[in-house]
Amino acid sequence: RIRTRFAPSPTGFIHLGNIRSALYPWAFARANGGDFILRIEDTDQERSTQAAVDVILEAMAWLGLTPDEGPYYQMQRMARYKQVIGEMLQAGLAYHCYMTPAELEALRERQMAAKLKPRYDGTWRPEPGKTLPPIPEGVQPVIRFRNPTHGSVVWDDKVKGRVEIRNDELDDLVIARQAPLGDIGTPTYNFCVVVDDIDMRITHVIRGDDHVNNTPRQINIIRALGHEPPVYAHLPTVLNEQGEKMSKRHGAKPVTWYRDAGFLPDAMINYLARLGWSHGDDEIFTREQFLQWFDLDHLGRSAAQFDEAKLRWVNAQHLKMTPDERLAPLVAEQLARRGLQADARLPAICGLFKERCDTTVALADWAQPYYAAPTPRAEDLSHYVTDAVRPALRELAARLGDVPWHAADINAAVKATLAAHGLKMPQLAMPVRVLVMGTPQTPSLDAVLALHRREDVLARLAAV
Ligand code: GLU
Repeated sequence: RIRTRFAPSPTGFIHLGNIRSALYPWAFARANGGDFILRIEDTDQERSTQAAVDVILEAMAWLGLTPDEGPYYQMQRMARYKQVIGEMLQAGLAYHCYMTPAELEALRERQMAAKLKPRYDGTWRPEPGKTLPPIPEGVQPVIRFRNPTHGSVVWDDKVKGRVEIRNDELDDLVIARQAPLGDIGTPTYNFCVVVDDIDMRITHVIRGDDHVNNTPRQINIIRALGHEPPVYAHLPTVLNEQGEKMSKRHGAKPVTWYRDAGFLPDAMINYLARLGWSHGDDEIFTREQFLQWFDLDHLGRSAAQFDEAKLRWVNAQHLKMTPDERLAPLVAEQLARRGLQADARLPAICGLFKERCDTTVALADWAQPYYAAPTPRAEDLSHYVTDAVRPALRELAARLGDVPWHAADINAAVKATLAAHGLKMPQLAMPVRVLVMGTPQTPSLDAVLALHRREDVLARLAAV
């Protein structure tokens, strides 16, 4: 059974590049009837907060990236990691190392001076026939993994293709930090990930390629523990519009900003899916199509660049595709933030205006005059609502007072008023739009008016 995971570190912020690392494993599990697991990597206690976990959960819930299991928290699994380290010490897969940070630093400097790659030199690594140095006074040991010294680690990355790293380029990874002999210190990040991926029976690790250097070390530990490594797919970074790695520091917005700005979850999924994966030339697709099509064979190899204009375009396409009844609650939410209470007219209002909108916020802007009197701009009032047209506006108000309230009858009232005053459509329609909608640019006047309450239209026309 396919099992994937999203393993964020809860350090306060989640941007679109981060959430894409949740989207693909989610989709791969869904597409294959597997399980999607959420694991919170909170071992960096200084930077991890529950508030940050909540932000991650909120973003995932909004996009519908629902985990089948979890969240698991690494901090709650410390006893398990230490248990495995204990077993590794017993089995000779790991050993105590008493090299002090100062000695390590001196070693590093010697190696750098000799133009060698800095790496631990194996001083404390037990070998048959080797005598270890005497244990120094007052030094607490770390625990290191006995990395293989021969051969290489090879894996077939779903994005990068075949990757091969020689074992003599890897050194013996610290798996537990300093602690008195007999205790096991805090397990290190790379080690926790390995134990989790094994215990959680992860079959496919789909993650950012900033972790690709960890992979050979993780594979060696997985094998040492008697397991086969999962399939790996290391996703290229997402760049921002300036071509920098997307990050909070470089101005990335949190995922939920897009919810508040009126983007649809399905449009976000569509856009993010295309940011690093493709299905032929298909640009616009539904969540269901995405789940039908998603595979690991069409992941992009080069960094994808975020483009907000493109995202807006995708969102506009999804607004058009989404049935009015499904848009209405989202627009109602936006109206509620403005203190306005929507009603049964809202789906039809969405239908009338969605063609010209790229977000539900824009749609709420159009819906707003149906629920609160607009404040037309002074220039529009003076330009369109002139003395020459006032008598016609009064007559239109009178006629609209007793026609059946339907587009065709409203249109007939407008036409009759035009004829009586010798005006052309725009001469009357523009001022009516300004007064009723707050702007001269709207869809067809009769359609716009028919969705208003008669009393609102009459009150706004009477205000001239
Ligand atoms: N916690 C890591 C991160 O947030 C992910 C590690 C992984 O997926 O293996 O970058």
